[in-house]
Amino acid sequence: MSEPTTPPAWGNELAKLWLKAGQDFPIGVKEIALEVTKVRYPNDPVGAIKAHGIAGIDGMLSKRKSKGDWCISYDETVTIPGRINFTLGHELGHYLLHRRFREEGFRCGQADMLDYESPESRKFEAEANKFASYLLMPADDFRAQVGGQPVTLDLLGHCANRYGTSFTAAALKWLELTDQAALLAVARDDFICWSYPSRRARNLRAYLRPGTPVPQSSLDRLNSIVGINRKNQGFRVRTGVWHPELEAEEFAILSDHFEMTIFLVQFPLAGMAEHEEEKEQDAFTFLSDRAQGFNWTR
Ligand SMILES: [Zn+2]
Repeated sequence: MSEPTTPPAWGNELAKLWLKAGQDFPIGVKEIALEVTKVRYPNDPVGAIKAHGIAGIDGMLSKRKSKGDWCISYDETVTIPGRINFTLGHELGHYLLHRRFREEGFRCGQADMLDYESPESRKFEAEANKFASYLLMPADDFRAQVGGQPVTLDLLGHCANRYGTSFTAAALKWLELTDQAALLAVARDDFICWSYPSRRARNLRAYLRPGTPVPQSSLDRLNSIVGINRKNQGFRVRTGVWHPELEAEEFAILSDHFEMTIFLVQFPLAGMAEHEEEKEQDAFTFLSDRAQGFNWTR
């Protein structure tokens, strides 16, 4: 049986398999991991998926020496909706793509406990995230959900529910697929932790470096909506706030986790005057950036 060779191809194939079997979204990562690997790789399948009690490790893939198979384990205390599902997808990605390169397995979680600095580790983490993204949120179906509609927090929330992922993972998927100029920025203590632009926004150099202060007008607006967790109405903000030459429409979510604020910023008037195309960066390498104390789905 021939195998897909890239993380998206693997994710797509398994998602199709699930849907062809008459199942619906969200994709059943546990069932797929146990049943597909048993058929395809009878010598070393995923034999077990279970919770572990290790703080700071979101997910692990480990070989069980006595049985010769693999075990996926996860932190069951994580409360962010959809995050465990993404973790299971991520670990299944390590199994399918990387287990032959690393017999000792994978421990995925907080950066300070783990060595993600080597280029190989970063590559493995980005690939596992990409696999999970394509497994849980197939591009065709995602486009069908959002096509022709203005993006709102409700629309992205609908996607997160449909696919059983976190809001952030759904928003990054939207940015990866959209033709619009938009970016996601995650802030803590009034400073940007990281931001991710869509392809078109990247061409407009709409990117905020970590440590950039959140615009004061945005903070003032946030403070005025305390008590309302989510503001579905976008605010038109003037040129110079989120981009030196463009007006923007801003949506904000106050996350209850890590005291984060998530901004979705669109540039509806972004014209054709695009700057030279810059090297594309993978949406899901951003999800790997755990140095800020948050993990791949947030
Ligand atoms: Zn990992």
